[in-house]
Amino acid sequence: MNKKVVILGGGVAGKLIAKILCERFSQVTMVTGGRDEVFQAGQLHVLLAGGWEILQEHFPQTIAQLEEVCPRVDWGADSFWVSPVGVMPQLDSGVVTHTCSRSLLDKLMREEISDLPIEIVNERVTALNLSSDGDQVNSIETTSSQLSADIVIDAMGRTSQTLKWLNKLIDLTVTQKRMETELRYSTVTAEFSAGAEPQQAYYQIDPQTEGCGGVISPVEDGKVIASYIYMDREPNSLWDGIGNDRFTQIAASLQNPSTVRKISKLHNVWHQIEKSPEIPTNLFMVGDSVCQFNPVFGQGMTQALRSSLILCETLANSSVESQIFHRQQANDLKFPWIMATLDPYNPKVKLTNRQRMMRWWVYKQMKLAKKNPTFQRRLIEVLHMKTTPTSLYRFKYLISTFLS
Ligand SMILES: Cc1cc2nc3c(=O)[nH]c(=O)nc-3n(C[C@H](O)[C@H](O)[C@H](O)COP(=O)(O)OP(=O)(O)OC[C@H]3O[C@@H](n4cnc5c(N)ncnc54)[C@H](O)[C@@H]3O)c2cc1C
Repeated sequence: MNKKVVILGGGVAGKLIAKILCERFSQVTMVTGGRDEVFQAGQLHVLLAGGWEILQEHFPQTIAQLEEVCPRVDWGADSFWVSPVGVMPQLDSGVVTHTCSRSLLDKLMREEISDLPIEIVNERVTALNLSSDGDQVNSIETTSSQLSADIVIDAMGRTSQTLKWLNKLIDLTVTQKRMETELRYSTVTAEFSAGAEPQQAYYQIDPQTEGCGGVISPVEDGKVIASYIYMDREPNSLWDGIGNDRFTQIAASLQNPSTVRKISKLHNVWHQIEKSPEIPTNLFMVGDSVCQFNPVFGQGMTQALRSSLILCETLANSSVESQIFHRQQANDLKFPWIMATLDPYNPKVKLTNRQRMMRWWVYKQMKLAKKNPTFQRRLIEVLHMKTTPTSLYRFKYLISTFLS
């Protein structure tokens, strides 16, 4: 198609969209912000199996390299998972990925698109210019240039300023769903000491009882990324309060830790742009620029990739207006949003009745998964966004979940 597409942001969503659209549009430009890495790259980034499958199809070289240099994890058999209802059996689930750092994933994806007809502009976007009726974005201002565009895609992640810029130009009302958390991450890169068996371990945070958790994830080059997840109080040390001997043994076998990288304000924020007809019709907002989840369930990248695919399908119709895509994206955001907001992750906030019900049901599902290997496999597939939650709602499972 003879249209100029400008993608703002070069994270996972930006790169996937650029790769697909450069085959369909005559001119595709990606404005990356001037640095290769996203600011949160130093934190643990688990790519769920649902996201892995998307990359298998669209970034085969990246996947082949990850398979070569990163540990293989079957998320049932190879992951020691302490859930709020106890330790899960380590059985083959068939849900398999290779675990890597976010920096490596971004680097490989960037390399895979380097020879494609994508113009890469290593500058920051600073503003948008609209047509006189405010219906279209005409051009984009960057730190040193102005780019014209027919289609503009905002993939600038959680720091996107697009709504703020639009607000200065048009009368815009965007409602926001928001659930603030007290979640904090303290992350180190380390390695297993000689003789210790590399092991993936997940101590799931249960805010209503212990209020802390952790993930130990072996990645490329014999490195391990380990994140301690906690809420209101600063811990005395990493893993403070973790009540499982095997998890603490695995943690104790880590050596040469880097300095601790801390991050907080991990809130759930959903800008409900699908309800705002004032958004310019050629401006498509995708990924974290629209919806950010607290990272406890590791959904962010997979959801950004899913939304990007929906966007590329929608753009097969060149005259499509952005609101149609925004509605489809909103529909797909419902399940991860429910997961992310299952709990306020804030000891000062009481659960609502809805959250209490949901929590009761999800914990019953985990209890059933402990006893029933087929159901455990299905639960892992759902948590990895490989399949929809409806697969857990077959009649036979409903009865046994209720009784578990
Ligand atoms: C602590 C933490 C832990 C996380 N853990 C996980 C996890 O385990 N698994 C998971 O799937 N997700 C995780 N996430 C979420 C994940 O980082 C995001 O959901 C995902 O990166 C969203 O992809 P995106 O492409 O929308 O945005 P991003 O990947 O954030 O990319 C945004 C891009 O836009 C660029 N940009 C920003 N502003 C400008 C500008 N003005 N001009 C030009 N470019 C700009 C940035 O440089 C970047 O390249 C975590 C997030 C945090 C904060």
